[in-house]
Amino acid sequence: MAAENAQSKQARIIDRIKSFILTCPDFPKPGIPFKDIMPIVQNPDVFSDTIALLEEHIKETGVKVDVVAGLEARGFLFGPPLALRLECAFVPIRKAEKLPGETVKCSYALEYGQDTIEIQKTAVKPDQNVVIVDDLIATGGTMAGACTLMETVQANVVGCLTVVELDYLKGRENLKHALHSLVHY
Ligand code: AMP
Repeated sequence: MAAENAQSKQARIIDRIKSFILTCPDFPKPGIPFKDIMPIVQNPDVFSDTIALLEEHIKETGVKVDVVAGLEARGFLFGPPLALRLECAFVPIRKAEKLPGETVKCSYALEYGQDTIEIQKTAVKPDQNVVIVDDLIATGGTMAGACTLMETVQANVVGCLTVVELDYLKGRENLKHALHSLVHY
């Protein structure tokens, strides 16, 4: 058998990652097909492949990353191992009123109402290169809010990463920055 080329190897790994994502109909509300990524982190080889693919993408861009910023809550699962591999800092982007000390906030629109996210004021410095990580992009509102938050502290967003993208919601059209996601629905 001919040696498997890099592209088909990557496609095979992504298919395997996808096979570990569960679709939970009508959770947490009727009509929402919730994508449950927990089986990924419960299987070390699948988790490791996922982090390796995210790292590979960043390495391919050739940009030196200073900070991986993870979105609460499931961005906290993928962000820290990626930051370790990239040998850079991890910074949590939390929902309002969870972080001690001075914080920088950003409010963004939801389908109904708005949400606020924040980081500790000294966590990201002006001109640092930041990659923002979450488990999933749906409408893109959360990721766009995180990008705005990074701009507020004058950091450079050098990429947005998600494990899952719901293509049909066109969330990437709400982003000014490049988005890379592994598994598409
Ligand atoms: P959005 O701001 O619409 O892109 O929503 C993205 C955020 O909401 C991420 O932090 C996801 O974890 C969560 N989310 C939205 N839709 C889903 C879904 N169908 N399955 C799992 N998580 C979701």
